[in-house]
Amino acid sequence: MKEKRKVLQHKWWIWFGGGALLLLLALFLLYYFLFLPHIYLNGSKKETILYPNTYEEQGAYLKNVFGKIEGNITIDGTVNSSKIGNYTITYSYRQGLFHRKVERIVSITDNEAPQLILNGELKQTVCPNKQYVEEGYTATDNYDGDITNSVQVKTQGPNMIYEVEDSSSNKTTAIREITYADTEEPTITLKGSTTTYVLEGATYQEPGYTATDNCDGDITSTVTTSGEVNTNRVGTYTLTYEVTDSSGKTATVKRNVKVISQNESGAGKGVIYLTFDDGPHATYTAQILDILKKYNVKATFFVTKAGPDSLIKRAYDEGHTIGLHTWTHQYQTVYKSVESYFQDLAQISDRVKRITGEESKIIRFPGGSSNTISKKYQVGIMTTLTNEVLNRGYHYFDWNISAGDAGETTDPQVVYRNITKNLSKNRSNVVLCHDIKSWTASALESVIQYGLANGYTFQKITMETPMVRQHVNN
Ligand code: ZN
Repeated sequence: MKEKRKVLQHKWWIWFGGGALLLLLALFLLYYFLFLPHIYLNGSKKETILYPNTYEEQGAYLKNVFGKIEGNITIDGTVNSSKIGNYTITYSYRQGLFHRKVERIVSITDNEAPQLILNGELKQTVCPNKQYVEEGYTATDNYDGDITNSVQVKTQGPNMIYEVEDSSSNKTTAIREITYADTEEPTITLKGSTTTYVLEGATYQEPGYTATDNCDGDITSTVTTSGEVNTNRVGTYTLTYEVTDSSGKTATVKRNVKVISQNESGAGKGVIYLTFDDGPHATYTAQILDILKKYNVKATFFVTKAGPDSLIKRAYDEGHTIGLHTWTHQYQTVYKSVESYFQDLAQISDRVKRITGEESKIIRFPGGSSNTISKKYQVGIMTTLTNEVLNRGYHYFDWNISAGDAGETTDPQVVYRNITKNLSKNRSNVVLCHDIKSWTASALESVIQYGLANGYTFQKITMETPMVRQHVNN
């Protein structure tokens, strides 16, 4: 019996101990599942942030089966929004022996493709005999910055392909369309003017030309010329210049060569060419222009640096010819050398061009081409100059009637007589006057009346007027 009791006693302890353990377990389970909170994240467990946006911590909260509860959640880990990558943020909560932990992965990513900018036109035409010359490009990326150095350039047929990829494998492609073709005709540029004049019996000298092509460059040597100038016959001749580039494109230009009469009894017969030198003069040139206007007579003014621009402008606007006389009218300067002569001529030429907008190629030598005063400064200079001006496309005019108004007389009556007594119907009459003299202005009206009454016509000198030239004496 005694033993039996012991067993009983022993069993009680077991029951008691087991029961207590069960109770503890039950309490633990009850606590663990009902009261111990879980961590809940605001936002999601995997956040993707597109660069350059920044990650903002959204936090977390605690909740058990009865609802949200207060408590301290420790947040560990940082996100560098300016650097692409995956970041882990840990949220942990500790309560006595218990520990909860949740992680959030934040990805900073870049899905923006780089920008690729090509210099120059995107569509280009390049000569067939040339290669497209790269004009450059720039590539920038929102994350990587300047990535121009990683641009890959390749050709695809005639086109150029540009590719660039940023560090996140975002790709940008650009294309430059190249057409290999020659779309331009060559250009022929004539030296001298498109209408040139040559004296009857003289030799026509080709002033020359140049030809260029956008693809072939200088192709002057392949220009062909056709047409002929017969300087033994007065008339207009046409020369044709033609050139073809390597793409078969052709350019043609023409030049008219006018062979004009040497013979004074030919063209201009019975014509009076009134010419006025050394002006303009503020008073007398204006008076002369008034008289010319009254009779609708056109004349020629060989101007210098003197007088107001407005009178040159007026003479030009009223239909008269503005010829070039000299800038300085200083013989020692003008005839010192050939260079000096052309320097002086260029100055008066510039003045006329500036005022009228037109370049004059009609000139009169100071003192005329027959002057001997130039011998004092340069022997033989008139022989050189009379040829050289013609080579340079000028026409020079002397005179066959002198009004004598520059020294011989100051009497309008004498001026009138000097002119009218020398007029001839069998030639052209180039009359030398000076519009800086009052007696010339005073004589002019009666000279015109005489001319008109006696069947003469008045004309201005043009590039087609036969030159009247004196004998060269130096
Ligand atoms: Zn003069």
